[in-house]
Amino acid sequence: MDDASAHQGTARPPVRVIFVGSPGAGKGTQAAKLAEYLGVPRISTGDMLREAIASGTPLGKQADPLMGRGNLVPDDLLIALVRERTTREDCAQGFVLDGFPRTVRQAEGLAQMSDGEVSDWTVFSVEVPREELLRRLSGRRWCPRCQATYHLTSDPPKVDGVCDNDGEPLVQRDDDREEVVARRLQQYAARTEPLIGYYRERADMVEIDGNRPMAAVFADLKKHVGVTA
Ligand code: AMP
Repeated sequence: MDDASAHQGTARPPVRVIFVGSPGAGKGTQAAKLAEYLGVPRISTGDMLREAIASGTPLGKQADPLMGRGNLVPDDLLIALVRERTTREDCAQGFVLDGFPRTVRQAEGLAQMSDGEVSDWTVFSVEVPREELLRRLSGRRWCPRCQATYHLTSDPPKVDGVCDNDGEPLVQRDDDREEVVARRLQQYAARTEPLIGYYRERADMVEIDGNRPMAAVFADLKKHVGVTA
């Protein structure tokens, strides 16, 4: 069976997936592949915030200096953003969250959105050693137009330095600079890692070894999404 959209059109209960993992763990790549496979939207709060910054909205103006320094954006703003996004029509069959929740408070906000019930959610905790995270983040390149990501050596674009999708020159994200990465990893350890204990008790949490080739990680995820064609 094709990987892409393997389950589109199949009658099934909504599928809701959360990724918990450090910056550089591969959440974005895997969440995009899984969302396509399941035929549901991928909701990336990082992408939404970067779009808000690019279009100069009030949310973008508030988020910009925080993100630029590797800090988290306030919980209430993120909870409102995700609440609005997940109640749209295209989420009726479910969604894959990428980068949310990032704090226990956000996880509680998310649980409230689904009447306190998270036991039928699938939560992936993706683990990657620190030196590999640093290698991935320092080599990551990003398309400011469509937000596609690449890696200089392990996932390069077809033509050096330009996006496969739209030909836009690729850049390094400001928050992938070394000094900001250190802060992001520290924020992850302090504020996001506690989610692993939170979800271990409340949901179907699966620990995934993210320090493997992309295809091997994805094969593992598919086994756990609990969807049959
Ligand atoms: P990401 O693209 O997921 O790596 O997110 C980039 C940055 O956006 C993070 O370092 C935070 O500053 C901000 N951000 C994204 N998602 C959240 C969230 N759920 N809570 C707070 N800040 C967030």
